[in-house]
Amino acid sequence: MSTPVCPKCKVEMVHCLSKHGLFWACRNFPRCDITHGAHQDTGEPLGIPADKATRQQRSLAHKLFDRLWHGKQSIMSRHNSYLFMQKALKLTEEQAHIGMLDIEQCLSLIKAVRMLRKERKKNHGYKEHTKNKCRRHRKLGREI
Ligand SMILES: [Zn+2]
Repeated sequence: MSTPVCPKCKVEMVHCLSKHGLFWACRNFPRCDITHGAHQDTGEPLGIPADKATRQQRSLAHKLFDRLWHGKQSIMSRHNSYLFMQKALKLTEEQAHIGMLDIEQCLSLIKAVRMLRKERKKNHGYKEHTKNKCRRHRKLGREI
């Protein structure tokens, strides 16, 4: 098993158990509050450990990203959402996981998702927006 290293203290992390299950924590807890997800069956670390600021951005990026394919505001499939992430951040399929993004990549992803939403809104949700295809524009009878 690979043992993650605390990005702040540069020491190996240790397994801990909470009511939410298994996770990794910095040896210097409570002086250092860095934690990291663990696979519940194997204990393997999930992704790359991050400091608090990165984890906050990851969590925000995850929330916005998941809404692309999940819930009322979804506009594409999960598969296409991950393709979108790969393209927006120039990542391979293996790299395209929010748990592996650094803070810069999280910010880029958030920006890309917001841009996409804005674009879609302008086009009334149509990916290929032409006058003939768009019922709303046809009804309005105006040029795009
Ligand atoms: Zn630490």
